[in-house]
Amino acid sequence: MKPDLFEAPDYYNIDDLLSEEHKLVRDAAREWVKRDVSPIIEEYAQRAEFPKQIIKGLADIGAFGPYIPEEYGGAGLDQISYGLIMQEIERGDSGVRSTASVQSSLVMYPIWKYGNEAQRQKYLPKLASGEWMGSFGLTEPDHGSNPGGMTTHFKDMGDHYLLNGAKLWISNSPFCDVAVVWAKNEEGRIHGLVVERDMEGFSTPETHNKWSLRASATGELIFQDVKVPKENLLPNKSGLGAPLGCLDSARYGIAWGAIGAAMDCYDTALRYAKERIQFGKPIAGFQLQQKKLAEMITEITKAQLLAFRLGQLKNENRATSAQISMAKRNNVEMAITIAREARQILGGMGITGEYSIMRHMMNLESVITYEGTHDIHLLITGLDITGLNAFK
Ligand SMILES: Cc1cc2nc3c(=O)[nH]c(=O)nc-3n(C[C@H](O)[C@H](O)[C@H](O)COP(=O)(O)OP(=O)(O)OC[C@H]3O[C@@H](n4cnc5c(N)ncnc54)[C@H](O)[C@@H]3O)c2cc1C
Repeated sequence: MKPDLFEAPDYYNIDDLLSEEHKLVRDAAREWVKRDVSPIIEEYAQRAEFPKQIIKGLADIGAFGPYIPEEYGGAGLDQISYGLIMQEIERGDSGVRSTASVQSSLVMYPIWKYGNEAQRQKYLPKLASGEWMGSFGLTEPDHGSNPGGMTTHFKDMGDHYLLNGAKLWISNSPFCDVAVVWAKNEEGRIHGLVVERDMEGFSTPETHNKWSLRASATGELIFQDVKVPKENLLPNKSGLGAPLGCLDSARYGIAWGAIGAAMDCYDTALRYAKERIQFGKPIAGFQLQQKKLAEMITEITKAQLLAFRLGQLKNENRATSAQISMAKRNNVEMAITIAREARQILGGMGITGEYSIMRHMMNLESVITYEGTHDIHLLITGLDITGLNAFK
């Protein structure tokens, strides 16, 4: 792969809106990605393997629990810092960002928000340091966009719960030490349970043959009469709103992360277009290529402003789920469109692993589908503005 020459576009001087802390956090993540992710990521993606050696680095830049309080091992940062970290990581690879998103927003967040003090003390510091890795089990083979229909369930056996069922498409599953699993009790109410790797009857087979997010491990979570201790139930929130609350936090991170992937594609395409000579001049001098590049920087700038404003609202606890859906949907579509256009600017070179664009493009096919599909986020906006439910 070519050396990482990334220069971040900032057409509207959005840096001026950031605090010194935001910039320090962002620059540390950016440097780490250049040093420890870019040189190896293409090889790991080609091999369809998650590079486990970067776990410590992710922890060091605060990517595991950026906004979780320091008393639990988190970085204690605000929501804009969290977003900037996700942006920089996804600039390197969406699969690596997925690992960090799952750990922070889908595993640490529910333990922090819905767990009791003993659960926070037991799990959060180890998850923040990367000593333990987590996964989040909501999706099932027959229930994706409609998780409320889940069939994974648990029975109260007096001194423990007995868990049965299966989850599919679970990021980090093949190597997770703990899984936050959503399952129904005997009354059909959804609860979160923390399942640990060594519990009997719990297995995590890996899903192979993905053309997307190849540097992220994906798999199943299978529960066959798993005895879960009662103290592993998250006591402070139940119902579908509990997992959806986690998804809000992760989707917000994706809205920022997608900007990173788009920036990388744009920066690569701009540099290539200025250097590549055809018909005696750089292809950047042709109007058709300028149209692509000009539209890319316009869309990136709009997405940056959307994410930044959403970050302010998140910091004030005012961001709604529907606002988060809009940003996730818009920014991922923006990124995938830019990846496709940037790929064309590179001509044949664009399909090779010499450049990051094709990897971003394929990764974004998962990002546009997981954490609520592109369609589902549109329906959320539709419901929000009309008050009419078009889901069913
Ligand atoms: C790489 C990867 C990693 C993932 N990681 C995780 C994870 O860590 N944990 C987890 O729990 N899940 C994870 N997922 C699952 C992901 O969230 C689901 O794939 C997603 O929610 C969509 O579900 P589905 O694939 O079953 O598609 P379906 O729900 O079957 O949807 C298929 C199509 O139908 C459309 N559709 C569905 N319902 C409607 C409707 N009412 N109106 C109109 N159109 C509709 C959808 O938009 C989509 O286009 C991951 C997925 C991938 C690909």
